[in-house]
Amino acid sequence: MKVRVRCPACRGRQEVGAALAPPETACRRCGRAIPLTPTESVREDREVDACPVCEGRDLYVRKDLNRNLGLTAVVIVGLVSAGFLWSGRDLAAYGVLGAFALVDFAIYQLLKDVTVCYRCQSEFRGSYRRTAPPFDLHTAEHLELEYARSLEVGPGIRSRSLPR
Ligand SMILES: [Zn+2]
Ligand SMILES: [Zn+2]
Repeated sequence: MKVRVRCPACRGRQEVGAALAPPETACRRCGRAIPLTPTESVREDREVDACPVCEGRDLYVRKDLNRNLGLTAVVIVGLVSAGFLWSGRDLAAYGVLGAFALVDFAIYQLLKDVTVCYRCQSEFRGSYRRTAPPFDLHTAEHLELEYARSLEVGPGIRSRSLPR
């Protein structure tokens, strides 16, 4: 299993192999030490039962899609169909859009799920069994705030608006 760790200080990301994870890794950008405590089943790529970075057990799964790639595809398809519309070939324009919707749907079905830690945003990729529920905004807001406080990174935008 590969763990994509997010540095709590600078939010820089780096990937760590869980099987041979060292007890601590250093952020490549700011050098901050990030302790790693992978559980047995994380090391063996069986299941993400607890996050090796923050030890949180609150996780969710989402589709592992590349946002930039998706956006590029949307822009290209938009331009192509706009070109067809402009040249009066309406049918071709709608055909391109329809085909894209189908391909998009198919790709979405084929995408693998990635497990993400609510607190520290670590991402887990591997052939392990997905057991986490889908994303929940309420849980996310609550846990991100809790994590930010536990790190004492200073008041974030959200924590300021809430009474202490
Ligand atoms: Zn960092
Ligand atoms: Zn975590």
